[in-house]
Amino acid sequence: MTMTPRDPSIVIIGAGVAGIATAVTFQQAGFHNFVIVEKGSDVGGVWHWNRYPGLTCDVPSQLYQFSFAPKPDWSRIWAEGSEIQRYHRDVVERFGLDKHLMLDSEVNDAVFGEQGWELSLSGGRSLRADFVIAATGVLHHPFTPDIPGRDSFGGAMVHTARWDDSIDTAHKRIAVIGSGSTGVQIVSALQPQADKLVQFARTPQWVLWAPMGLPQSSVVAKLLGTVPGLHDRVYDAGLWASGLLADVVLHPTWRRTVVQQFARWSLGAQVRDRRLRDKLTPDYEPLCKRQVLSGTYYQAISAPNAELVTEAITEITPTGIRTADGVEHEVDVIVFATGFHPHNYMRPMNLRGRDDVTIDEAWAKGPRAYRMTAIPGFPNLFTVLGPNSPTGSISLQYSAELTARYITRWLERFRAGEFDTVEVSEEATSRFNDSVAEAMGPTVWNTGCNSWYFTDQHTIDLWPFDRATMTRLLSTPEDRDFLLTRSRDTAVI
Ligand code: NAP
Repeated sequence: MTMTPRDPSIVIIGAGVAGIATAVTFQQAGFHNFVIVEKGSDVGGVWHWNRYPGLTCDVPSQLYQFSFAPKPDWSRIWAEGSEIQRYHRDVVERFGLDKHLMLDSEVNDAVFGEQGWELSLSGGRSLRADFVIAATGVLHHPFTPDIPGRDSFGGAMVHTARWDDSIDTAHKRIAVIGSGSTGVQIVSALQPQADKLVQFARTPQWVLWAPMGLPQSSVVAKLLGTVPGLHDRVYDAGLWASGLLADVVLHPTWRRTVVQQFARWSLGAQVRDRRLRDKLTPDYEPLCKRQVLSGTYYQAISAPNAELVTEAITEITPTGIRTADGVEHEVDVIVFATGFHPHNYMRPMNLRGRDDVTIDEAWAKGPRAYRMTAIPGFPNLFTVLGPNSPTGSISLQYSAELTARYITRWLERFRAGEFDTVEVSEEATSRFNDSVAEAMGPTVWNTGCNSWYFTDQHTIDLWPFDRATMTRLLSTPEDRDFLLTRSRDTAVI
């Protein structure tokens, strides 16, 4: 690794989609002096942690990939989790990121001081860096509800994000708690072999029909791999098509109505039993929660060995789950498909910025950042897929690569000696967040459902603009929004 006096040292925290996108983007811009610190035992982020039966990505794989690492030969249109995880491993090897990686290493403290950032890691190691990039993702702290009696259960219990392969589910009586994307996928996967499957759905979800098991033809793979420029054109077409999805969730137009009608049709056409259909019908608009896609769920939950329970859970007993109507549902295995603490981001890390301000203090009113990436009070720190990132409307890889390229503009100016610290202003951050709040008004997420998109402060933690706006906001840094200092304390702008 060659070093120049102004070669910025960088710590990237997280080796998932955001961390890999950041590392490769930095490399391609000529920044090689970085380490990637990852708490897991491998790269991949959510694709490393989630290994539950039925795990599939509901974004088509020809879009769910990095622009710099096209993969023509996915085995399915919507690939399974294991294939996506292998892809992330391959990308890391192909781009030589292994030598930058510190696996099984959790950042406990990251403190900004006179000498820049000081980080202490699990295992007692420490690092110093000019810049810290928090690429820590959104859905990485599993949420398991503290249901009375939970510890008394005599069978196996598992959260989907910590799947335990030693748990035998075949010919067992299985309870699945939760009806989000994960609950729907795991119910579809476990039902065929279960003795009995009981799904506890506190809130039913709209489930859009999609042929998730569709293979990708080898002819397509061959064409994409051999015809010059074809893969890029398909990728761009995918980005354009996802713009239609963004439009549908952002604006109440006839296009939204069409998709919502399709959701209603998906339920009506697949579930003929009226009582079950009533139980499966949500009381809020389709698309309000993170939309669930499946081609198998409604058949699975309609099967003779499946039961949908919408009564509230009151307790877990040694032999099962009791609901508010007094019924005890006896089961051998309880699967928590109960989601995550989605607004933790890099926390519980002890992250301290200028003047010893902690991230908990800075985010006392909920997570907030300037254009998803900069936080007032935290110089030389950027987030990639940070607050207000577009989970579910714009490609995550596109957003992460765009943000990483934006950060390289600052790294280039640091390298040129223009500043020692860069910090976004409070005023610019408030201005951005005010515009976000205003733009949330007509979005479908704001039409009266309870979803994980909401923070404790009832703001919606999503990107309410289109991709063109994102691209414009993260093209060239606007100096008027930042405070730059030289020699750590001399304001130069
Ligand atoms: P989720 O959408 O947050 O769903 C959690 C489920 O658990 C909800 O049905 C919730 O009910 C239920 N729940 C929570 N606490 C409960 C309690 N005390 N009693 C009964 N039910 C309870 O979590 P997820 O399904 O894991 O999905 C999270 C996100 O991960 C998705 O929205 C998506 O962004 C991502 N994901 C993506 C894919 C993919 O294919 N790309 C696959 C899986 C996950 P309420 O609705 O009533 O709160």
